[in-house]
Formats: sequence, C-alpha cells, structure tokens
Amino acid sequence: MDAGVRHRRQIEADLRDAIDAGDQLRIEYQPLYSAQSGQIVGAEALLRWSHPVRGMMSPATFVPVAEACGLINQIGSWVLERACSDAVRLRLPTISVNVSAVQLRDDGLAEEILAILARTRLEPSRLEIEITETSFIESASACQATLTRLRAAGVRVALDDFGTGYSSFSHLRNFEVDRIKIDQSFVNGIDMRRGGSAIIRAIVDLAKASGMQITAEGVETNEQRDFLANAGCSSLQGYLLSRPLTPAAIASLLYRNPSVEMHHAAIQ
Ligand code: C2E
Ligand code: MG
Ligand code: MG
Ligand code: MG
Repeated sequence: MDAGVRHRRQIEADLRDAIDAGDQLRIEYQPLYSAQSGQIVGAEALLRWSHPVRGMMSPATFVPVAEACGLINQIGSWVLERACSDAVRLRLPTISVNVSAVQLRDDGLAEEILAILARTRLEPSRLEIEITETSFIESASACQATLTRLRAAGVRVALDDFGTGYSSFSHLRNFEVDRIKIDQSFVNGIDMRRGGSAIIRAIVDLAKASGMQITAEGVETNEQRDFLANAGCSSLQGYLLSRPLTPAAIASLLYRNPSVEMHHAAIQ
C-alpha cells in the first residue's frame, strides 16, 4: 500500500477511537476584536485533537481525512453543539463555527443547526458559520437552500479564507454572505513601506459596498492591526491580540473569573 494511503487510514482509525474515547477532541476559542473599540466581539471555535501517540495534531491535517471518510459529519455536529452551549455558558457575544463543504452537502444540516440552537437556547443571530470560498462555489447550488434557510432564521454566514480560492474578486458581489474573512496570507503580505496593501483596501471597499462586514485573520503585528483598522475592517483576529484559548482561559479573559463551571460530555 502507498505510504500516504496507509498514513491516512491510520489517522482515520485513530480518529474513530478518539470519537469513542471522548476526551481527545476539544475546542479552543480564539477571540475576535472590534477594530474600532478593541472589545471582544466574539470567538471562533477551533477543533483540537490530542492524539495519544502523536500529540497535538493540526486540524489542517486531520479535518481533510475526516472529510474524506465521512467522519466530519459526526465531528462537525459535536463541534456545533459544544460551541453553541459554550457560547451560552461563557456569554460570548457571537460564536463562529467552521462548517465543511461535506457537511453543507447534507440537506439535513439547516434543520440540525436550528435544533441545536433551540436545545442550547442560543439566539440564532449569535451563531455565525464559516464556510470556505471553494466549498461555496463547488457546492453552490447544493448548499444554497441550506444557507437561505439558515439566514432566514437569523444565522450569519461568513466566507472564510477569502482570497485563496478562485477568482474571488469577480465573485464577491454574487456571494450572499454577511461577512468575509480576509485570509492571513494577505495580512502577512501587508508591506507598509509600499503603502500597505492595495488589494486589502479594494476588498474592504467592495465588501462594504455590498453590505458585508470584514474580519482580518492572522494579525500578528501592530502595523498590520493599524493598517487593517484604518482600511475599514470590522474585526480583527490573530496572535497579536490572542491565541486560541481553552474555555476556562477565555472566560477569565472576559470576566477575570476562571471559575465558570466546565462540563465535558463525550461525543455522542
Ligand atoms: P481557519 O478557519 O481559517 O482558522 C484560522 C486558523 O489560523 C486557525 O488555525 C488559527 O489557530 C490560525 N491563526 C489564528 N491567528 C493566527 C495568527 O496570527 N498567525 C497564524 N499563523 N495563524 C493564526 P487552526 O486552529 O490550526 O485551524 C486550521 C484550519 O482547520 C481552520 O482554518 C479551519 O479551516 C479548520 N478547522 C478548525 N476547526 C474546525 C472545525 O471545527 N471544523 C472544520 N470543518 N474545520 C475546522
Ligand atoms: Mg475559520
Ligand atoms: Mg480562515
Ligand atoms: Mg484556513
């Protein structure tokens, strides 16, 4: 067997064990800050897997495997439920959850999310789902009904990793989304000696003209933060402001009160 295939099968088997074990997968929350006021306006849920042998494994490695073998539906449902209940418990203004193209293709997704919102008593407008541009375009017709249903209920939709996919610019006007997230590769590329980034300015102007909000990801320096705030971004996210945090750590950041009660149920 090809080494790559073997590696993937091993990760898949270990991921099944992780779901059964229940304590290897967890979620960290990275705060999003208002570009204007500097206040925390929400957080993004980021999946973490501490593998019993390999240690911390990046979602960039195991999410694609979970998508390929279908496990992403079960894992994604768990992330949505846990993130929504944590958002209520931690009183986060908004919670952003990454939703894979594979999940979007399931025509039961909208009803499932609405059921989770009802169960956890999270107001729909406090949930934002993040979908990638690639999945948006590839499954455009398949996921349109799902997105329309969710937006009608008040759930927000954000386009993640904007600028890394297709000829994004020409599509921007056609996307029916509430927010775009400018990919960190653009943010990395900001060069203040050359007046910042003309591309970012253009993206922000076009998005605003279309009534969208803009979040910049991967903000690592003061220069980037100042440029992005001046360019008109609504919110900022990145290591300069905060790393992804455990629920207890984000609670203490928000309330200086680490004693918020923590329950960790296993994946169903
Ligand atoms: P993403 O949704 O674009 O998330 C942003 C990624 O950038 C996160 O990586 C975050 O930790 C990282 N990041 C944040 N600030 C900075 C910074 O200042 N500098 C740098 N270099 N990186 C920064 P992470 O947590 O490794 O996640 C990688 C990707 O895995 C995510 O990209 C998302 O596409 C996917 N992912 C994570 N959690 C989930 C999930 O629950 N479901 C699905 N379907 N995908 C997920
Ligand atoms: Mg994201
Ligand atoms: Mg992103
Ligand atoms: Mg990404």
